[in-house]
Formats: sequence, structure tokens, C-alpha cells
Amino acid sequence: MAARYLKSAPAAAHDDAQSRGVRETVATVIADVRSRGDAAVREYSEKFDNWSPSSFRLSPEEIERIVATVPAQAIADIKTVQARVRDFAQRQKDSLRDFEDEVSPGVFLGQKNIPVTAAGAYVPGGRYPLVASAHMTVVTAKVAGVSRVTSCTPPIRGEIPAATVAALHLAGADEIYLLGGTQAVAAMALGTETIGKVDLLAGPGNAYVAEAKRQLFGEVGIDLFAGPTEILVIADGAADPFVVAVDLLSQAEHGPDSPAILITDSEPLARRVLELIEEILPGMPTRDFAAPAWRDHGEVAVVADLAEAFALADSYASEHVQVLTESPRDALTAMRNYGALFLGEGTCVSYGDKVIGTNHTLPTRGAARYTGGLWVGKYLKTVTYQEVTSREASVELGRLCGRAARVELFEGHARSGDVRAHKYAGDPLPW
Ligand code: NAD
Repeated sequence: MAARYLKSAPAAAHDDAQSRGVRETVATVIADVRSRGDAAVREYSEKFDNWSPSSFRLSPEEIERIVATVPAQAIADIKTVQARVRDFAQRQKDSLRDFEDEVSPGVFLGQKNIPVTAAGAYVPGGRYPLVASAHMTVVTAKVAGVSRVTSCTPPIRGEIPAATVAALHLAGADEIYLLGGTQAVAAMALGTETIGKVDLLAGPGNAYVAEAKRQLFGEVGIDLFAGPTEILVIADGAADPFVVAVDLLSQAEHGPDSPAILITDSEPLARRVLELIEEILPGMPTRDFAAPAWRDHGEVAVVADLAEAFALADSYASEHVQVLTESPRDALTAMRNYGALFLGEGTCVSYGDKVIGTNHTLPTRGAARYTGGLWVGKYLKTVTYQEVTSREASVELGRLCGRAARVELFEGHARSGDVRAHKYAGDPLPW
């Protein structure tokens, strides 16, 4: 049975025009930052954020002053969450293995994981101070062993986001700039007179930030395409419709471009969730973002059974997939495309976003088809090396290389093999 949509998203055409506008703005800002450095960064910060302090970089004294304004409970909570994120990142790092094996007599092949030297951590903050993104980007970079972590976060409606600055500082950021959007991303990627160029950019952001990373990829590494947040809930008839409704809206409040999708095999549940959303939305303090997100990007699909639900969910490749069914762990075998899975009613996307310890920087807009989220490995380069310590092995490889390279018409490559076979075994040079 094809899915029946009790609510579908009407926003696709509008999205295309919007994406074109974003692409053009981002290209202009990048070109300007490239040619005029700090002056362009300042102009765009004034234009988009109405923000032009004497220095975008916070000094150690300013950081200390800002951190002192954050309530003690918030500092304690930041430390607790960072400890959880650090612990999970360390477990991920421990799962990686440098190795060197003698793969045949005298032939040693090895692999090492080397951290990038400098990373740029973008911590969003246009609408909300995304304190948790500081943990996700900076703590993880430091666990990976990145020596210089530059971080940028925008002022929030002209104010310094004190808790975010505290989180960046406690996470170990080496440099903190109050700067947002494309101008921040371009400054870190290209370098300016005052902001050092980084090797890799990481962190989530709005459509401008995500597009800036996409356009700069190649000149700089990027972690992944982590744009406006998405939630997809798979629920069966046993799920609590109130929990489903609340959880869908938890992600819709991120911004008006955040999809929230319910897939269920129970039409009564779907109808009840739709009713509850209409009841809850008007009272949400963040309804200005959540209501348009639900109106333009909310979807409710009814399918025949959970196998269909998993298959349909896979086709969305959503950033967050929450499974509220009687056997939620079935999703682990049934599904392949998601940024993160949230299994059962005991957890939710908000835990992943804010506190539980897995990384919340996750692929959006279908990128979960080919990548997972931010993790220690994104800050590491997996490189290889080789050594041949026996002359016999080198002769054997040299003869093989000579033949293989000549099939490809690579005479120069072939000769590197020939000289070794000649030097170590007396083979005549064939040229
Ligand atoms: P943001 O920091 O990403 O963007 C704010 C900046 O956008 C501003 O500093 C401004 O310079 C720029 N900007 C805003 N309007 C502009 C315009 N018209 N032209 C040019 N530049 C403009 O903060 P945000 O806007 O609050 O967005 C945060 C985003 O991060 C949300 O979409 C949220 O869903 C997403 N997010 C994603 C993940 C993930 O892992 N995928 C995780 C957390 C948050």
C-alpha cells in the first residue's frame, strides 16, 4: 500500500526559490571576504547582525567576565553534559585503531589517524543560544587531539550569549569570536588579517551556514551538511499521542524551515496527534518558528504496517528518527538512513540535542544517505604508510609494478619498478 498523507508539506516550490537566494547571498559574501578580509567580515556582521565591536575576538579577561555572569547551576550543567559528550567521544576514539601489519614477507603496511591541526567550530546562535553545539564541536575536536580550535558564534539580537561563551571556554576553545553566519564561516575557512585559516570546519547552522560550508568545501574540509533540523517519528497504535505531538513540535521550534514528520500504521493515532498539535501549538512560546515549520514542513503519513513505515522513513533519510513502537530496536536492523536513532519512549531527540552525550551535529536534507553525524573521526585524517624491508619483496613488487604500469601506458611508473628489480636482482633494464 502506498502511504496515505493526512497532512503533507506544501513548501517545495517556495524552498527552491529560497535556496537560490541563499546560494547567491552566500557566494557574494564569500567572494568579498576572500578579496577584502576583515573589512568585509565587519561590513556583513553589521549588515546581518547589526554587530560591530572593536574586536570580534574575546580576550581572556572578557571571557572571564562573561563566564562570571552565568548562573552556577548552568555552569554545573554545562560541565555535566560536556563530561558525557567527552566520554562518548573518547569511546569513539578508542574504537579507532592505528595498525601496522607485515602483509607479506618484508612488506609492512600501516594506518594512522592524525588530527587536523586547526579546526573551526561554528556554534549557531541566531535564534537561540545553542550552548550544546559548543560541547558537540569543541569537546569532540579536543578529544580528537586538534591543537587549535577556533570558534565562532553570533551575538543573539545584539547580546553576548554568555552561556555559549562559557561552554566554549570550558570545552577548551583556543579562540572565541562573536561572529555569525557566512562571514564567520568564510573568515575561518579563508583566513583574514586577524582570523587564522583552519583546515576543517565543523558545526551545524542555518541554511546560510550550511550553504557556506558547501561552497567552501575543497578549500577547507567540512564535517558534513548539517543544516536546519529535522525530526521523523515512527509510531504504532500503542504510542502515546501526547508524547508524539510534543516531540514533533520539539524540533519544529528550531526554525520555520524544520521538517517534522510522523509515519504510523495507526490512523487513529495519526488523527489524535494532528488534533493535539493544533491544541498545543498556540500556547508554545516558540510558536513563531514552530507554527510555520509545522504548516509548511509538517507531514503525517499512514502506512499499512511497520515494515512500510521503516522503508518510507529510510527514503527520507532524516536527521533524527524517533521510534515509538512496541519493539523499537527493530529499527536497528530495518533501517539504514538516519543521522541518529532514538529508540523507545524513554529517550527523545531533545536528550540527544542537549544532554545525553551522543553528538547532535547530524546530517540533514538527505545527507544521511551517505554520512553519519559529527564524531571524533571527522577531525582525524586516516592516513597510510608503507615500508618494504626485504630486497626479494621489492624485486617481486618491482616486476609486478613494471607489468601493471605498462598496461596503463605509464612508462615512468614502470621504470621505478624496473630499477629496483635491476639493482637488487640484476634484471636487465627494458629501456
Ligand atoms: P545560525 O548561527 O546558524 O545563523 C545565524 C546567522 O545567519 C546570523 O549571524 C546571520 O549572519 C546569518 N543570517 C541570518 N539571516 C541572514 C540573511 N537574510 N542573509 C544572510 N545571512 C543571514 O543561527 P540560526 O539562524 O538560529 O540557525 C540555527 C540552525 O541550526 C537552525 O536551523 C537549526 O535547526 C540548526 N541546527 C542544526 C543541527 C544539525 O545537526 N543539523 C543542530 C543544531 C542546530
